[in-house]
Amino acid sequence: MKPVQLDASASSAPTVSEKLAQLRASYAESLPRKIIEVEAVAEALSTRLSPGNSDRSLADLRSRTHKLAGSGATFGFPVVSDVARELELIADGALNSGDVLSCDVTSKISALVLDLRAALTHGIDTPSNSAVPSEAADGMRRRLLEVSEARPIVLVEDDVELAEQLKTELENFGFSVTNLHDPSCLKKVLNQSDVAAVIMDVVFEGDDQVATDTVQQLRSEGVLPQPVLFLSGRIDAKARLAAVRAGCDAYLAKPVSVTELVDTLDRFTTDYDTEPARVLIIDDDSSMACYHATILKSAGMITEVVTDPLMALEAIDNFSPELILLDLYMHVCNGSELAMVIRQDQALAGLPIVFLSNELELDSQLDAMRQGGDDFLIKSIEPAQLIKAVSLRATRFRALRALMVRDSLTGLLDHSATKQALDTEIARAQRSGEPLTFALIDLDHFKSVNDEFGHQAGDWVIKSLARLLKQRLRGFDIIGRMGGEEFAVVLSGAGLEAAGRVLDQIRMAFAEIKHRSEDDIFQVTFSCGVAAYSDYKSASSLTNAADKALYEAKSQGRNRIVLSG
Ligand code: GH3
Ligand code: MG
Ligand code: MG
Repeated sequence: MKPVQLDASASSAPTVSEKLAQLRASYAESLPRKIIEVEAVAEALSTRLSPGNSDRSLADLRSRTHKLAGSGATFGFPVVSDVARELELIADGALNSGDVLSCDVTSKISALVLDLRAALTHGIDTPSNSAVPSEAADGMRRRLLEVSEARPIVLVEDDVELAEQLKTELENFGFSVTNLHDPSCLKKVLNQSDVAAVIMDVVFEGDDQVATDTVQQLRSEGVLPQPVLFLSGRIDAKARLAAVRAGCDAYLAKPVSVTELVDTLDRFTTDYDTEPARVLIIDDDSSMACYHATILKSAGMITEVVTDPLMALEAIDNFSPELILLDLYMHVCNGSELAMVIRQDQALAGLPIVFLSNELELDSQLDAMRQGGDDFLIKSIEPAQLIKAVSLRATRFRALRALMVRDSLTGLLDHSATKQALDTEIARAQRSGEPLTFALIDLDHFKSVNDEFGHQAGDWVIKSLARLLKQRLRGFDIIGRMGGEEFAVVLSGAGLEAAGRVLDQIRMAFAEIKHRSEDDIFQVTFSCGVAAYSDYKSASSLTNAADKALYEAKSQGRNRIVLSG
């Protein structure tokens, strides 16, 4: 999967603000024609008053003015929007009553249509719509990072030997650790560098409260928003209470096991927000769809636009969105009907659907939500709010989905979810022509690890490899536990050689990890076979090739990577 292009980064390409300005300009250009069309429908209404025709024309008027009301507000024509909205309400009322149109109503419509034309000159450029927050662009730049970087941790521990040991072990798990022996240096480090979390050794004896006081002080100054983990020799409630009061997020009793520490750090420093959200926009008004896509893309999201609601299911299938932005009123079918259709597919039951409409009536909004929508946004929403609302929901969806198909010991994808993910990635590689590699990893002599150190220790080893893979690979790489002590990795966008290099680094880091069980310290290695999609075009041939390469790695002496072909 290629990183998304940042509009602002390419010097020749238009910036986001320029793009939005272009969209507004082309809307302004098309507006007179849209208004002429409304005039034509209104004209037809006042001349042909037979109920059948009038119904069709009324519905046409309602749909056209509804669109104008939404798009006008978005593109800087608030008066057009207001007048269109009035027309829409009249058309809606007349349609619902089913009565033949009275002269009164038709003349009201004619007057409003004249107002609509006059309103054309009232277009103003709403400044809130023209600027996309630079924060969003920064977020995107961060997301362009291809490889997940080591998460920076500060460890405040006065026992130099213990500090060095923890540092080495944490670094094997993909953290970068700065050791401080004196809490008073913490503030300076926090001010100077990026820190994901702080681990702090604390003493609750007598006057020695430097560590807790420091945390409390820095919290109150606002320089320490990061999670803080306390390491302490005491496990009693009084000490724990003091720790909570000082502002710690987690409390670990010494002697601390690295696995437990890493587990806790993972819990506090992993966000599901590192990969751009995939948003499918369904709106039969392509100018609106394009406008919203531009805003979301400026925040680093990946968007796909569908203007024909009947193509929606196919698009969901191909694009695998994490959120659907759905227009409520469309020609072929309305948004709430489409939401029901989507919800009928069991696999899509949890996919967030956010209605985007200019429907201001609370009742209609609630109705739409009952049909399976998760949220309701009005089309004139400001770009920054749209970005926030969409990314919040998409992130939550990602976190929830992450819990569903996971192996319980490691939190990785389970066997069938991995196979499914491989199929999806192969289809994507086929379309995009990008490279894809598949790797199988198997722990070496694992039976004897269990025999010598116990099953529990074996479980910890499996967990530590899972964590290392998660930390060293990119967010969108697929990592699964195929069963037992065998793992699979799908690397999108990486060819055979590149994948081999990344996996070899992981192999070396893993071999360095010192595992503990009771009094024993031991190390474990793994073997790995890698195959590329360019050489094997189906999931089964790719898996077989990786399996053969793995077998080869085992027979060559283990603790190595073998590339297939
Ligand atoms: P090789 O280097 O050839 O892969 O040797 P090996 O001993 O790793 O391979 P083998 O397939 O003979 O043994 C795998 C062992 O892994 C047997 C099984 O007890 C152990 N194992 C499988 N799943 C788990 C698990 O979830 N937890 C633990 N602790 N052990 C497991
Ligand atoms: Mg094995
Ligand atoms: Mg095995």
